Amino acid sequence: MADALAALKERLATVMDLNYAAAVLGWDQRTYMPPGGAVGRANQLGTLRKLIHEHFTAPEIGHLLDELAPLAADGQNDSNDAALVRRTRRDYDQARKLPAEFVAEWARARAISNQVWEEARRTSDFALFQPHLEKQFDFAKRQAEYLGYQDHPYDALLDQYEPGMKTAQIKTLFAELKAGTLPLLKAIVNSGVQVDDSLLHQPYDEAKQEQFGVEVTRAFGYDWQRGRQDRTVHPFCTHFGRDDVRITTRFYPDFLSAALFGTMHEAGHAMYEQGVDPELSRTLLSRGASLGVHESQSRMWENLVGRSRPFWQANFGRLQALFPQQLGNADVEMFYRAVNKVQPSLIRVESDELTYNLHIMLRFELEAAILEGNVQVADLAEEWHSRMDDMLGVTPPNDAQGVLQDMHWSGGSVGYFPTYTLGNVLSVQLWERALAAHPTIPEEIGRNEYGTLLQWLRDNVHRYGRKYEPNELIERVTGESLNVQPYMNYLRTKFGDIYGVAV
Ligand code: ZN
Repeated sequence: MADALAALKERLATVMDLNYAAAVLGWDQRTYMPPGGAVGRANQLGTLRKLIHEHFTAPEIGHLLDELAPLAADGQNDSNDAALVRRTRRDYDQARKLPAEFVAEWARARAISNQVWEEARRTSDFALFQPHLEKQFDFAKRQAEYLGYQDHPYDALLDQYEPGMKTAQIKTLFAELKAGTLPLLKAIVNSGVQVDDSLLHQPYDEAKQEQFGVEVTRAFGYDWQRGRQDRTVHPFCTHFGRDDVRITTRFYPDFLSAALFGTMHEAGHAMYEQGVDPELSRTLLSRGASLGVHESQSRMWENLVGRSRPFWQANFGRLQALFPQQLGNADVEMFYRAVNKVQPSLIRVESDELTYNLHIMLRFELEAAILEGNVQVADLAEEWHSRMDDMLGVTPPNDAQGVLQDMHWSGGSVGYFPTYTLGNVLSVQLWERALAAHPTIPEEIGRNEYGTLLQWLRDNVHRYGRKYEPNELIERVTGESLNVQPYMNYLRTKFGDIYGVAV
C-alpha cells in the first residue's frame, strides 16, 4: 500500500503543478496582461485545463485509489494519508463525470467572457455581455447535468464550492438571516441617528493607502516573504502553493474604505493558505476547506478585527499621522462609526456588514430562478433593478452598478455567491470559540497584537487545509453545525450600540 500511496502522491503532484501554472496565468490575466493577450491566454488556459483534467482523470489514478480504498474506508483513521485518499476519491469521481472537451471548451469561453465582461462593465453595456452570460449559464447547467443531483440542479453547482451543502439548507439559513436582518435594518433607518462618513470620501494618496495596508497586514501576520500585492479590477487572492500566496487590490483616489478593508480581507484569505500544513503540499488537500470556510477567515480579519473599536484604538493614530489633512480633526470614535455606517447601497463589495447579506440573497435567488427557468438571462438587468428596489430600496442608475458589478458569472461561477454569507455566519462562530479559549484577544488587538488569534486559527483551521469536509471541520472546532444565531447576535449588539436601537 505504501507504493500505491507514493505513486498517487506523485501523480497528484503533477496535477497540482499544472494547476498552479494555470493559476499564475490567471493571476497575470487579471493584473498585468494587455487586452490584446486575451485570445492567446484563453487558448493557453484551455489547453492547461484540458491537460489537468486528463492527468487527474487518468484510469491509473482510479486503480491506485481502488488499491488504497481500505485506508479510506477506515473511518477511525484520522491521518493525512487517509484523508487524502478519501478526498481524492470524491474529486476523482466528480471530475470523471465531466468530458475533457467540455472542460476545455468552457475554459476558453470563460477567458473570453471575462474579457467582454470587463469591457461591458466599463461601458455599462449589458447587451454586449448578455450572449456570453447566456453561454456561461448554459455551461453551468450542463455541468449540473453531468455531475448529477437529487433535488435541485443548484445542488450540483453549490457542491463545487461548498462540499456537502444543499440548496434547501441555504434557503432555510437565508430565510432566518433575512428575518433577523430586515427588522434591524428598519430600526436603524428609523432611528434618526445619522452616521457621518464624509471623512472617508476625501482625496487619499494612493501610495500612502498602500503603505498603511502593508503595515496592517504585516501586523496581522501575512507573510510578505511568501506573498505580494498587485492592482486589479476585482480584487482576489490566489496561490501557487503555500509559499507564494498573492493578494490584489483596487485603490480609489477619493474613498479610503475600499482598498483598506479589501486588503485586510484578501490578507485573511492569504493567511489561511500560508498556514496550511506543509505536509499537505502538492496534494489536493493543500488549500482551504471550502469557499465558505475561506470567507470566514477573510471576513474575520476584515470585520471582526478590522472594523472593531480595539483595532482602531490601536491604529487610528497612525492613519491620522499619514493623512493629517483628512483626519486631523477626527477622533477614534468618529472613525469607528464612519467605517461601520449602515446604508442600503448598490455595490456588494462596498456594502456594510448588515446589508451585505441581502446583496448575496439577491444573487442566490436570481441564480436559482435562472436554473429553474423562472428568469431569463435577457431579463436579468431588469430583474436586478426591481429586486434591489424591493429588498434594499435602492435602484441602480446603470448596469455597471447593477447586474454587471461582479465578475463571478463571467467566469461561469454559478453557486459561488452563497459561500460569502456562509463565511460571515461562520466567522462569528469561530471568533466566539477563539475568544472562549483566549479572552484576552480583544485587549491584544487594542495593542496591535494578533499573534494569539492567528495561532488559534492556525491550530484549529488553517493547518488542516482541505483535510476535513466543511461541516466536519466546523463541528470539530465549534462543537455545532453552521448556526445563524451567534452572527445575528453580533450584528444586533454591534449596530444596536452604534445606532442606539434594540431589536
Ligand atoms: Zn473573500
